[in-house]
Amino acid sequence: MFDYLIVGAGFAGSVLAERLARGSDKRVLLVDKRPHVGGNAYDHHDDDGILIHRYGPHIFHTNSREVFDYLSQFTAWRPYQHRVLASVDGQLVPIPINLDTVNRLYNLRLTSFELEAFFAERAEKKERVRTSEDVIVSKVGRELYEKFFQGYTRKQWGLDPSELDASVTARIPVRTNRDDRYFTDTYQVMPLHGYTRMFERMLAHPNIKIMLGTDFREIEGAIPHDQVIYTGPIDTYFDYKYGKLPYRSLEFQFETKSARVWQPAPVVNYPNEHAYTRVTEFKYLTGQEHEKTSIVYEFPRADGDPYYPIPRPENAELYRKYEALAAATPNVHFVGRLATYRYYNMDQVVAQALTLYTKLAGLPRQKVFPRKAA
Ligand code: FAD
Ligand code: UDP
Repeated sequence: MFDYLIVGAGFAGSVLAERLARGSDKRVLLVDKRPHVGGNAYDHHDDDGILIHRYGPHIFHTNSREVFDYLSQFTAWRPYQHRVLASVDGQLVPIPINLDTVNRLYNLRLTSFELEAFFAERAEKKERVRTSEDVIVSKVGRELYEKFFQGYTRKQWGLDPSELDASVTARIPVRTNRDDRYFTDTYQVMPLHGYTRMFERMLAHPNIKIMLGTDFREIEGAIPHDQVIYTGPIDTYFDYKYGKLPYRSLEFQFETKSARVWQPAPVVNYPNEHAYTRVTEFKYLTGQEHEKTSIVYEFPRADGDPYYPIPRPENAELYRKYEALAAATPNVHFVGRLATYRYYNMDQVVAQALTLYTKLAGLPRQKVFPRKAA
């Protein structure tokens, strides 16, 4: 008899398995239909021995000390600050848009102060910043919006930015200084030996039994358990009762090049040309030394594995119906990016899972995990 059947061995499912087993001495059965743990953060060595991310580039960043300390129990880290270039008007320029982006694109020598005025002249005033178009156009004007955001977003989401919530492009700041980092979070690190190794250490506990290559529907009736934690798509759990909740997918094309370095940045974005959105070169992320290098192209797809919830009002409305159904389903807890239909980063999913754990364990928040001795 298991106390918990946990569906999905990504961050949401694995954090809960670890906490319930180690923190509360519960017996946990963790199942995943894929043949590996780690969910979308899974990484592995390819045929040439280069560490790659099977489901696209995963860069860890967080402002949460709690999340960072929690994961630090299971991995050492490598400092890594992510940088991205965008291919625009025949040049590779920094994204987020910053002082160098504008100066290079327009062959100018503006100061930060002058760039503020440059943006102010072009920015369109919005009564309410509602959509992903509003966010950018109200900061930098239409021309830069069209060069950097409109094409990329149409490719990535199959929707115009005017059809997506503001939160999507609001992930990308606009800067008037020369900071070319993609993120400015307090903690920006990569697991020293990769994500999969970190997951394996989280899950190495006698109370945790793992079944891979198994859809939970195959075993839920056969293996007795008390409660369920579900981290897959919420509409699938309820057999699409209210219709399909849209998730955006990607197809990944991996290539290994006989060169030490392939491109001048970890990620190059292609807002305007090609069917793919971006190209990632993994060695920048992992710090691995190797005479060859592996890259991945991301081709957005409407069908395939669900990767992204699509933030827009009609989807939020449909999700709320499933959420109400979930709330009325006793002994089943929904958590993670797919089950709560939230465009969450890894750290946000960890925080969400730790919050659910405190609730299940009836603990005050600070007791979520034992703090490491200083
Ligand atoms: P998942 O990792 O999706 O895990 C859910 C698991 O449930 C899956 O393994 C699935 O196989 C399993 N499952 C589903 N249904 C069933 C079933 N019926 N039976 C058994 N198992 C089932 N975040 C960052 O912080 N930084 C990044 O740089 C970053 N880059 C990303 C790039 C891409 C291309 C994508 C798609 C996401 C990225 N993310 C990034 C987000 C990150 O992947 C997620 O926040 C995180 O992995 C979500 O964890 P999860 O446990 O909620 O879901
Ligand atoms: N975006 C864009 N141009 C870029 C980078 C991002 O239009 O050069 C928009 C696009 O809609 C994208 C969103 O901003 O989906 C969020 O970008 P992020 O890099 O955070 O995407 P993720 O890594 O989650 O795929």
